[in-house]
Amino acid sequence: MTRSEPARYVGRFAPSPTGPLHFGSLLAAVASFLQASVKQGKWLLRVEDIDPPREQPGADRRIIDALEAYGFEWDGPVTYQSQFEERHKELVQRLLDDAQAYPCSCSRRDLAGARRGALGAIYPGTCRKGSRATEVAIRVRTDDEPIRFLDALQGKQSQRLESESGDFVIKRRDGLIAYHLAVVADDHDQGITEVVRGIDLLDSTPRHIHLQRLLGFASPGFLHIPVAENADGQKLSKLTGATEIDRIAVRPVLVRALAALGQRPARDLADASLDSIWQWAVEHWRPGVMTSQKSIPVDQSTMAEAKNPLS
Ligand code: GLU
Repeated sequence: MTRSEPARYVGRFAPSPTGPLHFGSLLAAVASFLQASVKQGKWLLRVEDIDPPREQPGADRRIIDALEAYGFEWDGPVTYQSQFEERHKELVQRLLDDAQAYPCSCSRRDLAGARRGALGAIYPGTCRKGSRATEVAIRVRTDDEPIRFLDALQGKQSQRLESESGDFVIKRRDGLIAYHLAVVADDHDQGITEVVRGIDLLDSTPRHIHLQRLLGFASPGFLHIPVAENADGQKLSKLTGATEIDRIAVRPVLVRALAALGQRPARDLADASLDSIWQWAVEHWRPGVMTSQKSIPVDQSTMAEAKNPLS
């Protein structure tokens, strides 16, 4: 009797090069890396550089250097999402050919009066029946069947796309491929079996599942970690002034990241070598302690004092 090999775990970290690595993105990197390490799987690094207007020159290099300084090791070469542009365009064309997507000439102003939901303006379907304009975005059709999935940390999820987001853009008016399409294409093509990322993307996941179904791709597992927030309850990001993580005093910051993820490193773990910290982290990784947790308060003003992580 032949026994098929269990599918090998493949995880990834997929930063956008919009700025250097801050503590919030470090948490996603640590969580996805530990999940892959514990499952003895692969962990890929994919730079999501498909939105040049939002990118910062050199941010990709800074992110990669920071990850190296923290002792992350990824499998294979770093990939850049822009490498896969032809594939993304081919998938958009496939959806157009299958009449699952259509050109849309609505401008922001046209949509200013649209009903708004938790995910922003809900597209009212204006161009569903056709648009003759030449400068167009491409939208994918949605329906109102609830899309349900089980998130490994956040539990049962359900969203009705048509009434909660409406048909959504997969190729922008400026010709750039939208994140939703690119992430679905690359996760599939790279054989990702579980997506570990911040909870700020939990609401986008039903759109990804919808695209996976339309394209005949299996959906990976999902694990959305709580998002790091500053003292004002804002997500740490370039916009809210998140600072780059320290690339010299890496051990205390790494131990602090583990503590932020609900793990319980001993006070003196930061005195150990980087290798020993990672070894401890892999042996003790229990993501379940963050079940249903939505946010992680991070006091950025104390980041400079990270040399004493648990004080
Ligand atoms: N590139 C996205 C970001 O940096 C993450 C995408 C993902 O993990 O699916 O926010």
